[in-house]
Amino acid sequence: MIKAAILTIGTEIMEGQIDDTNATFLCQTLLNQAIKVIYRMNVEDKLENICLALEFVYDQVDIIITTGGLGPTDDDLTREAFARFLKTQLVYDEHLWQDITRFFNKIKYKPAYNNKKQAYLLPGSQAIPNKNGTAPGIYLHQPPKTIILLPGPPAENQPMMNHWVIKKMHKDIDLTTKLYKKIFRVYNLGESNLTKLLNQYQTDQLEIGTYFSQKGWIDIHFSRYYHENIYEVLDKEVEKYFHILKENQINFSEAKDIALLVLEKLKELKKTIAFAESITGGHLSAELVRYSGASQVFAGAFVTYSNDLKEKILGVNKETLKNYGAVSDQTVSEMAKGLAAKSAADYNIAISGIAGPDGGSEEKPVGTVYFGFNFNNEMKILKHQFIGHRQRIINKCITYVYHEIYQQLCSELS
Ligand code: ATP
Ligand code: MG
Repeated sequence: MIKAAILTIGTEIMEGQIDDTNATFLCQTLLNQAIKVIYRMNVEDKLENICLALEFVYDQVDIIITTGGLGPTDDDLTREAFARFLKTQLVYDEHLWQDITRFFNKIKYKPAYNNKKQAYLLPGSQAIPNKNGTAPGIYLHQPPKTIILLPGPPAENQPMMNHWVIKKMHKDIDLTTKLYKKIFRVYNLGESNLTKLLNQYQTDQLEIGTYFSQKGWIDIHFSRYYHENIYEVLDKEVEKYFHILKENQINFSEAKDIALLVLEKLKELKKTIAFAESITGGHLSAELVRYSGASQVFAGAFVTYSNDLKEKILGVNKETLKNYGAVSDQTVSEMAKGLAAKSAADYNIAISGIAGPDGGSEEKPVGTVYFGFNFNNEMKILKHQFIGHRQRIINKCITYVYHEIYQQLCSELS
């Protein structure tokens, strides 16, 4: 298995000025090539520290990829750090300087003297063409190591990686190892319970990882790096877990966005949906309209945040609101009924709850949420108690609603 380390270089990352999206991009890109990233590090623009990071990772990996620090200014030191670490001198490449000059001419700029720095390469390396900027990358393949230096801006390094580096790596490195990966998504379950269950059946055929999302689900990753043709064997192994989950009444789905899964199922059933939103303030609808084809299944929504609009738009009784409150099964039931009367959709869903941090009481603490599901004119009321801060509660409500709808749609299809 080929192992890699990613070093993203730049003081602005260390200061929290920019998000290190380069490392995320590189991790995903390398994973697609079945290259295992074992380190991703952020390093400031400092020669000594880049060298120390290299010292740490060098013997442990086959590939080192960096981004950043290839610019013309004095604080761009990645090239120099590699030269020092490899105990060599950078070499000036006149052809490369001509290329850089041509790029400057094209964008009608005159190169500054210090741009010449960008025409220096490591001995034995090749320049990686950069169509979108002045800093070429550097590719050094010296078995057993491959070193790839890319500029910092994502608009530059992503095309360089996708169009040049991947092809080159396939020529130079044995990338025949494949990665088997299947992901299941499980809702409304504690991570430790799930891990305990899965551990009971774990064999060394597959690596199993469980990843908890703040939005209220857990992804189970089944993976394995493999050489031989054992895809079907691994599929059978995954199927075993599939049955274990089913036997334990654990619902799972593909690891796709749940709103998209709902949209697909609604299309399949040729049914429509409408929402009466209070606590989610329009976000339930927003999740659905992110996807094309929403107009075929989504009738629309009312965002009735105030009691006044719950009454006026959905016809919730003043007395109901007074006696039971806006967050109650009676209110969501009337909201869902009022919605159904107006929308003519097949599924009418109302939601009302307390997102906090204020507004909770002993009887109804922050995170108390009522759901009115009016499916094909049958009413089902659910109550759930969420924990977390405001946004987290709202996110979990959204996941909860879509998951509930998804279960309903699956049961109708089976
Ligand atoms: P330049 O010629 O622009 O100086 P460079 O190779 O020196 O190129 P940096 O100076 O490190 O690159 O970064 C330039 C810009 O690239 C940053 O201002 C930032 O917008 C973006 N960038 C750098 N590193 C990252 C990173 N790890 N993730 C996302 N964006 C980054
Ligand atoms: Mg720079």
